[in-house]
Amino acid sequence: MTQSFFPPQRTLMGPGPSDVSPRVLASLARPTIGHLDPLFVSLMDEIKGLLQYAFQTSNELTLPISAPGSAGMEACFVNLLSCGDTAIVCQNGVFGGRMRENVERCGATAVMVEDDWGAPVDPHKVAEALKNHPEASVLAFVHAETSTGTRSDAETLCKLAREHGVLVIMDTVTSLGGIELKVDAWGADAVYSGSQKCLSCVPGISPVTFSPRAVERIQARAHKVQSWFLDMQLVMGYWGGDSKRAYHHTAPVNALYALHETLVILQEEGLDNAISRHQRNHKALVAGLEAMGLSMAVEEAWRLPQLNSVCIPDGVDDARVRGRLLRDFDLEIGAGLGALAGKTWRIGLMGHASRQRNVILCLNALETALKAEGYALDSGAAVEAASDYYQSLTGS
Ligand SMILES: *Cc1c(COP(=O)(O)O)cnc(C)c1O
Repeated sequence: MTQSFFPPQRTLMGPGPSDVSPRVLASLARPTIGHLDPLFVSLMDEIKGLLQYAFQTSNELTLPISAPGSAGMEACFVNLLSCGDTAIVCQNGVFGGRMRENVERCGATAVMVEDDWGAPVDPHKVAEALKNHPEASVLAFVHAETSTGTRSDAETLCKLAREHGVLVIMDTVTSLGGIELKVDAWGADAVYSGSQKCLSCVPGISPVTFSPRAVERIQARAHKVQSWFLDMQLVMGYWGGDSKRAYHHTAPVNALYALHETLVILQEEGLDNAISRHQRNHKALVAGLEAMGLSMAVEEAWRLPQLNSVCIPDGVDDARVRGRLLRDFDLEIGAGLGALAGKTWRIGLMGHASRQRNVILCLNALETALKAEGYALDSGAAVEAASDYYQSLTGS
């Protein structure tokens, strides 16, 4: 007979999912109620308010899509684009490439603005593209490129889009809850995220928010959105304002308990505190990695504190090191992707996983694994450098 599945207790320091807190895991085990139960409807309202806080927006159309981040991405593209439209798509990693796929599958044209993997999106190139393509109706970019660990200047990119009267689709899957993100102040129009990165919820939910400009565009569509499930006009009837909720699909009831709990935890900590915690642990990790003689793959100004790309030294076997971390330390870190495969490791410090204990664990484990590879390092220097950094903060 097939046995029950009991996963090991891992520490998740890859590109997501991140460690889910015991509080959130416990919320999943609460009794399932009907998705149209009046109590569940009020939970939905609270989730909406909490998401507005996380996104820093007052957008009415703010809700969690019942599917992973990729579905949030698709929802933004299929609702804002129609056949024959043009979108400017910035690519500096894996996820910009997926945006292009989405644009083309909508029957629209993608004008690509490409930058090196590990570099931010260049606003000058975007300005050029906007000037050269007055037919474009959308600018799409990734705020935090998880494949490389690079932040782009979302505020400037949104400003350029405003100046040219195009709507912004912004990927915030990895940025939400980890770095500054101000949907309203920046003027982003269709923004999607994921539950399993800096929110540290279980995977499978995608928070999205649409500006009034985006809603207007959706309502003015000449043709129905080709995706029934992701058609925001229909989803609005389920999640929408004061009107009676109409059945659209069965919400993942327990997963939404978990999202609610996650967002309550974020509110308790405070968004600004969560952001500075990510920054603090990132600084400590980098101090440790550099003390080991390793170098970061991304320039300091554009590094993501929640996703640290570090160069794999010559002579060190990528897969063997990651395998050892998992086997001996129950520690997961990420491999490089695409152009960076085999060249970098991606060490996540996302959400609940962004804590001092994990920084120290990772540095210790990595030191052991690198020594086994014959890599020369100064034993104990990494943990000492990180600890010194933490000490310097408390001044004790
Ligand atoms: C993880 C990720 C996605 C996809 O999210 P899924 O939940 O895996 O579908 C999209 N964009 C970025 C930047 C991501 O990091």
